[in-house]
Amino acid sequence: MRDDAFRKAFDILWRRFRVENWAEGKDPFEVLVSIVVSQNSTDLVTERVVRDLSHQLAVRPKEVATAPESLLIDALRPAGLARQKVPRIQELAREVLRRFGGDLMRVLDEPDPRQTLMDLPGIGPKTADVWLSLVAGADTMPVDTHIARLARRWRLTRRKDYAAITAKLQSLIPPRRRARGHLVLIQFGREICQARRPRCEECPVYGLCDATVKRPRATSASR
Ligand code: SF4
Repeated sequence: MRDDAFRKAFDILWRRFRVENWAEGKDPFEVLVSIVVSQNSTDLVTERVVRDLSHQLAVRPKEVATAPESLLIDALRPAGLARQKVPRIQELAREVLRRFGGDLMRVLDEPDPRQTLMDLPGIGPKTADVWLSLVAGADTMPVDTHIARLARRWRLTRRKDYAAITAKLQSLIPPRRRARGHLVLIQFGREICQARRPRCEECPVYGLCDATVKRPRATSASR
């Protein structure tokens, strides 16, 4: 898809989808934990698991750092890889306590908040971008599995790595539209341009799409 076609498609999707920022009103550290838990998991399972965990303890740096490892592993097990994720989350909690006195929002006072987040244990560019976008409304452009699939299908860039896809999207989407835009693209990927069987028949950007997986729409004569 050419750049001008992408911009038109993005405009259509921007108007079409209502999206909610699931992090709104949540504690910033709990949001970061949710993002780590969501790796290799679905959003629904992540939401349930973190909600269940929050019934057992406050998902704050001090409580998480001092919680018994077995309690956290049991709580996070449904989201997968709990034995790998829990030590990472506890190390993260200790580091947030040590560096920011437990107040993760102090990251935003640093000269380079993204790099500061990535200096924390287990936090890569994607997690940092999602947190900054959802919690701080920053103009990062996070690329999740749905957005990576769209970028691939629309051949926005030849490269497949995170840095290249986010840089390409940043070149196409103005800063003020990125935080909501990332949620809009995710919603579109979830509801319409799905991984296994894209629902081309009801796609609002059908006329702009040049994906090889695009399926022909039934004509009125063949109905
Ligand atoms: S036409 Fe099909 S493949 Fe193209 S964006 Fe829409 S749903 Fe995805």
